[in-house]
Amino acid sequence: MRSSAESQALFEKALQCIPGGVNSPVRAFRAVGGNPFFAVRASGATVWDADDNEYIDYVGTWGPAILGHAPRVVVDAVQKTAEHGTSFGIPNPLEVRMAELVINAVPSVEKVRMCNSGTEATMSAIRLARGFTKRNKIIKFEGCYHGHVDSLLVKAGSGALTLGQPDSAGVPPEFTSQTIVLPFNDVEAVRGAFADHGPDIAGIILEPVPANAGLYLPRDGYLEFLREITAGHESLLVFDEVMTGFRLGLAGAQGRFGITPDLSCFGKVIGGGLPVGAFGGRSEIMDCLAPDGPVYQAGTLSGNPLAMAAGVAVLEALTDGAVYEKIDALAQALSDGLAKAAKVAGVAVQLQRIGSMSCCYFANAPVHNMAEAMQSDRDRFGKYFHGMLEEGVYIAPSQFEAGFVSAAHDEAAIEKTVAAASKVMKSL
Ligand SMILES: *Cc1c(COP(=O)(O)O)cnc(C)c1O
Repeated sequence: MRSSAESQALFEKALQCIPGGVNSPVRAFRAVGGNPFFAVRASGATVWDADDNEYIDYVGTWGPAILGHAPRVVVDAVQKTAEHGTSFGIPNPLEVRMAELVINAVPSVEKVRMCNSGTEATMSAIRLARGFTKRNKIIKFEGCYHGHVDSLLVKAGSGALTLGQPDSAGVPPEFTSQTIVLPFNDVEAVRGAFADHGPDIAGIILEPVPANAGLYLPRDGYLEFLREITAGHESLLVFDEVMTGFRLGLAGAQGRFGITPDLSCFGKVIGGGLPVGAFGGRSEIMDCLAPDGPVYQAGTLSGNPLAMAAGVAVLEALTDGAVYEKIDALAQALSDGLAKAAKVAGVAVQLQRIGSMSCCYFANAPVHNMAEAMQSDRDRFGKYFHGMLEEGVYIAPSQFEAGFVSAAHDEAAIEKTVAAASKVMKSL
C-alpha cells in the first residue's frame, strides 16, 4: 500500500479552510471515492506527492502540460521574465509575440485577445458573438463544458457532470433562457432549432471534439454541417478549443478537420501551465471589442508577462510539429496496449482517441454523445482508477475526463502503464 499520511493530514486541514478541500471540484476524488493526494513537485511525465510516492501522470494539469511538467524552456522563460517585473498593466512586447504566434498557427484567427482562463475566453466569445450579431440565443451541446459561465452551465460536462450537477444552483433561469441545449452529433436537432429560432441565434458554441464527458468524436460531416447551417443563418460558429487548441496540432481541431470557425477560444496549452485564456477570430468580429467597439471585455492581469512568457515558450517549442508526431504515436501505443489488456482480462472497454487525447470508457458500445457516455460503468472505473494509482499511474479521477500524453512520456512509461493496467483489469 502507498503511504498517504501527509496527504491525509493536508486534506483534513484543507477541508477546514477550503470548500470541499479543493479549489476546483473534480480534484476532490468524489466520483471515485477516497481522498486526493497533494502534489509537491512534478517533472517530465512524473508527479510526486507529499508522501513521496511517484506517479506517471496522464492528467498533465488537465491538459496544459503538453511538453511535460516543468520543461526547461518554460522554467527559464518564467524566471528570466520575473526578474523584470511580474505584471505591468501596460502593453508589453510578449503580448504581441503571443498574438503573432497564435495568428500564424491558426488561420481562422486574424486578431486575438488574451485573458486569464478558459472560462473567461468562452464567456467573452459569447458576449462578442451576441454583440456582433445583435442576437441573443446561443446553441450549446449536452456534455460540452465551456467553463463555469452562468449561461453555459446547462447540461455541462467535466466536474459538473462528474458530480451530477450539470445544471448549477445560483444561475437564474433568465440567464439560461437564451441557451438552447441540444444532443451532440445530431443533425436534425440543430436543423429543428434553426427552423424554430433561426433569426434569434447568435451562434453555436461547441467543443469540436467533446472531451469533458470522456472523449467522443464528431461524426463524419457533422462539423461541416454546423459550419454550413450557421453561415446560412448569419450565426457565428464558435469553437471552444480550450482543450484541443495546440493539443491536436498547431491549428487545433479546426486544423485537423479543415473547418474555419468564426471565433475560437483557447486556454490550457496556450498558457504553458500559467493561468491563461484567449479568444480570437475574424477582424471584423474582433473589432467589435472595446476600445474599438461596443462589446466590453477587460482584465487587470490579461497579457500578464509571466503568463505570456510561459505560453510563448511552449508555442515556440511546438512550432515545427515534431512534438505532435511523437505524442500521437505514444498515445496510440497506449490505447492499443490498454485495449489488449482489457481484452485479455475480459473487461468491456471502448478506447476512444484522437491525437494525444484519449478516454477508456468502461462501456459495451462506442460513445458518440453524452447519453451514451452515461451508459459507462462508473463503479468499475472507480476501481480501475484506484488500482492504477496503487500501481503508480495517475489518470483523471473521473470517467468523464480525457487523458493526455505529453512529449515527456516515453515508450518505457507507456509499457509500465500497460503492464499496470493488465494487472488491474484482471482484478475488476
Ligand atoms: C477546461 C475547459 C474550459 C475552462 O477553462 P478554465 O481555464 O478551467 O476556466 C473551457 N472549455 C473547455 C473545452 C475546457 O476543456
